[in-house]
Amino acid sequence: MKDGAGIFEKRSTCPYCGVGCGVVLRPDGSGGIDVRGDQVHPANFGRLCSKGSALAETVWLHDRLLSPRVNGDETDWDSALSLVAQKFSDTIAQHGPDSVAFYVSGQLLTEDYYVANKLMKGFIGSANIDTNSRLCMASSVAGHKRAFGTDTVPGTYEDLEEADLIVLVGSNMAWCHPVLYQRVLAAKKARPGLKVVVVDPRRTASCDAADLHLPLKPGTDVALFNGLLTALYEGGALDAAYLRNIAGFDEALHAAMADDPAATGLEASDIRKFYRMWMGKEKVVTVYSQGVNQSSSGSDKVNSILNCHLATGRIGKPGMGPLSVTGQPNAMGGREVGGLANMLACHLDIENADHRQAVRDFWDAPHMPTAAGLKAVDMFRAVGEGKIKALWIIHTNPAVSMPDVDAVRAAIKGCDFTVVSDITANTDTARLADVLLPASAWAEKDGTVTNSDRTISRQRSVLPAPGQARADWAILADVARRMGFEAAFDYESPAEIFREYAALSGVAGMLGKDFDISGWSDLDDHGYEALEPTRWPVTKTRQGGRFFADGRFFTPDGKGRMLAVRMREPVARTAPRFPFRLNTGRIRDQWHTMTRTAKSPRLSAHLAEPFLEVNPEDAQTLGIQPAALVRVTSPIGSCILRALITDAVRPGQVFAPIHWTGETAPSARIDVLVPSVVDPVSGQPESKAAVVAVAEFKPE
Ligand code: SF4
Repeated sequence: MKDGAGIFEKRSTCPYCGVGCGVVLRPDGSGGIDVRGDQVHPANFGRLCSKGSALAETVWLHDRLLSPRVNGDETDWDSALSLVAQKFSDTIAQHGPDSVAFYVSGQLLTEDYYVANKLMKGFIGSANIDTNSRLCMASSVAGHKRAFGTDTVPGTYEDLEEADLIVLVGSNMAWCHPVLYQRVLAAKKARPGLKVVVVDPRRTASCDAADLHLPLKPGTDVALFNGLLTALYEGGALDAAYLRNIAGFDEALHAAMADDPAATGLEASDIRKFYRMWMGKEKVVTVYSQGVNQSSSGSDKVNSILNCHLATGRIGKPGMGPLSVTGQPNAMGGREVGGLANMLACHLDIENADHRQAVRDFWDAPHMPTAAGLKAVDMFRAVGEGKIKALWIIHTNPAVSMPDVDAVRAAIKGCDFTVVSDITANTDTARLADVLLPASAWAEKDGTVTNSDRTISRQRSVLPAPGQARADWAILADVARRMGFEAAFDYESPAEIFREYAALSGVAGMLGKDFDISGWSDLDDHGYEALEPTRWPVTKTRQGGRFFADGRFFTPDGKGRMLAVRMREPVARTAPRFPFRLNTGRIRDQWHTMTRTAKSPRLSAHLAEPFLEVNPEDAQTLGIQPAALVRVTSPIGSCILRALITDAVRPGQVFAPIHWTGETAPSARIDVLVPSVVDPVSGQPESKAAVVAVAEFKPE
């Protein structure tokens, strides 16, 4: 499209977080772009946060990977792709389909994700494809599936504006989903009656908007929400009519009553105040994020929240419902397309024979796995054990971001054959690859993404791909064709892939699933190019809206499920040798392992180096001065950080940001501290509850 002055520009989507803000991109004529918020995108209505505003500073080419490389030497695409196809085919022929794996990313566009998933699950015949979204929101997926029968987000962002009470649980929305936070602040200004409660062990920037901050002990969220369920019952605040659509109430209540909210360590008066606020407001939205998900009891935490909404019918109606917010731009699209090792495409279940058959028929697939594949932590463990012999990592940096990261690094290094597709060779993971494939970056890519409230938006290319860089879907399809699957991967455009995907979703819709965008299955190229941000489902008879207000769910009997859950403490226990609980998270102006945001000087100016937040009482006990270097040691590793003494963390707790890597700060890698403990249901790592010792660092 052209702006008022006749200058060419395109509407696209910010590639950072799951808010999924619309951006307008305009080439500046010298290889860069100008970026502004899209005034009509329903996620942001023109707003951008600091990261989105600095996007133009991240598109420069100085460290781009411009050609394929094999063992460090530049080569041509044909040689590189033939080698990848040959190695994967040989490994499968020799050791079976489960000897290979893909580890992909919420940075992929939906069309890329669809092709990767189709190749692994339908044609290679393994379910060994998992994603870095496993580290981000797998517990929400598991919680949704247990309660609703599908991974359905019931509500919308507009609910934040219509709510009377917003509860943020384990979510520093002010820094991690800043535009949603801006919407909350605007709603609060417009309606002073709107109350905000923040449930978080740490006093974060989000507490600036809070009417009540509940700094609960790490890992005790289930006790808080079980206590709420009990209070709702005892206070006569349940919705008896809605409960007729819900199974499991008695068991869930029985379990809830056995938990004592005093285990949270909160003041009893604050707990009562929170429960009274919940009971006193009909329109309640509970937003939750990594503080809930990244836990060995993450799925139970999710279900303890969902239980309270189901028991009171506060779900799927304007201004009420649970809302999980995802960390990555297309974490939701990856969930929809089956990017998790335990899912098929379009929310179909890999362990359901009817679903498998439907997908097999649709794809005309020669091989389909009958069981879930390896989830991220188990996948890298299998790589380390030599069970996975060929690994393809796409747009992610597990040599930095996985728990017990030194073991993951060693596993990748020892793998017989590792392929990495990325935009740069300068990541810790890329340095371990046998084959490096140059991929297009976000401003060069065409496709779709889905944000946290189910809105599908277009990402549009506005810059040419540099050197030999190519779209991920095209690279994957080329390898698939070289592996002998010509007809099924004969794609010529992302629009063609999207139409196939939309048609498959119609099959899922006929099987009673929520994810159905079959209304777009006959979209022509022009329609795809012009696609407006739209919340799914999109069928001939329905577009968007909320789910579950009518009390109909996607379980076999159509009823929602309340789960009997009990509080479980984090697996690692503090002890005299490791007396501190290490919380981890993002800072406002950096993103993941800084591969993009570190290019922006103004983003790096916010917090310039890695740090460890330490409570003043603990600092005094340990003799640690402000800004001193400290050594942080866990049972599996150690790193050096600068002490930031603040009462934002409680005594006995410390906090460190996740972003700095082997490249930017080799001695400050905090993932060497985090053990590979996972939630038994979701497989999501417990990233926020390592135990550590802290001591002043004395260089030798
Ligand atoms: Fe981008 Fe998220 Fe910021 Fe929106 S809130 S501009 S999607 S980083």
